[in-house]
Amino acid sequence: MPDSTDATTSVPSTGRPLDRDSGKTLRAPVIVERLMEAYEGGVIELDHTSPFELLIATVMSAQSTDKKINEITKTLFVKYRTPEDYLSVPEEELQTDIKSSGFYRQKTKSIRGICQALIEDFDGEVPLRMADLVTLPGVARKTANVVLAGSAPEALLEDPDAGIAVDTHVTRLSKRFGFTRNDDAVKIEKDLMRLFPRQQYGPASLVIILHGRRVCDALRPRCGSCVVEDLCPSSLIAGRRDKAKQARAVGTD
Ligand code: SF4
Repeated sequence: MPDSTDATTSVPSTGRPLDRDSGKTLRAPVIVERLMEAYEGGVIELDHTSPFELLIATVMSAQSTDKKINEITKTLFVKYRTPEDYLSVPEEELQTDIKSSGFYRQKTKSIRGICQALIEDFDGEVPLRMADLVTLPGVARKTANVVLAGSAPEALLEDPDAGIAVDTHVTRLSKRFGFTRNDDAVKIEKDLMRLFPRQQYGPASLVIILHGRRVCDALRPRCGSCVVEDLCPSSLIAGRRDKAKQARAVGTD
């Protein structure tokens, strides 16, 4: 990881160095730029070769880990290649195939419901528009944004309804950065969309998720190894109170 002190940035209007006390609209794009550099633009850690595979893997990843899902999809995606394949076997067979992901009965229902809708409404293809994706059963904005960011960044850029995937890591870090005081994912997404330029929507969620997993842990953030420490109002090194906890104490907007 690069040293954050190498990347001092100035506030354009004043020439003063950007720091953790600067406004969030100034800090947000710079934080994402630094994280993109640290994580090479950001990657989806769910293995996939198409939007369809990423959609299935994302549905399966609820309450599980990407590592576990990748173990399962290694063989799953060989056996099931199309929406029709998931509907051509008895429900119990698919349940068995994805059992180790947890909540397998519900996930089987979701996957089969999505496959049915893809066949009936979209000729068996995953639609790469937010307005269409959220018509699929059980697919909300978070999953739709992950699919767009991970497998169709160009479509995300052109889609006025697309946004930023908000998961548990994005929620926690957005509060630590002082970007939001909301708890609701849709409200957090709106707060973030006001702070980032559209071209950062996809990468922002990818790199913030990676930073949350690798450095900014929920219980033990490694502020000493953090490339955006100088821009973070919750830095333990700066002796700052955790903005995430502060937001919880204050309540939602
Ligand atoms: S400085 Fe600490 S709290 Fe802030 S983003 Fe980095 S690791 Fe997280």
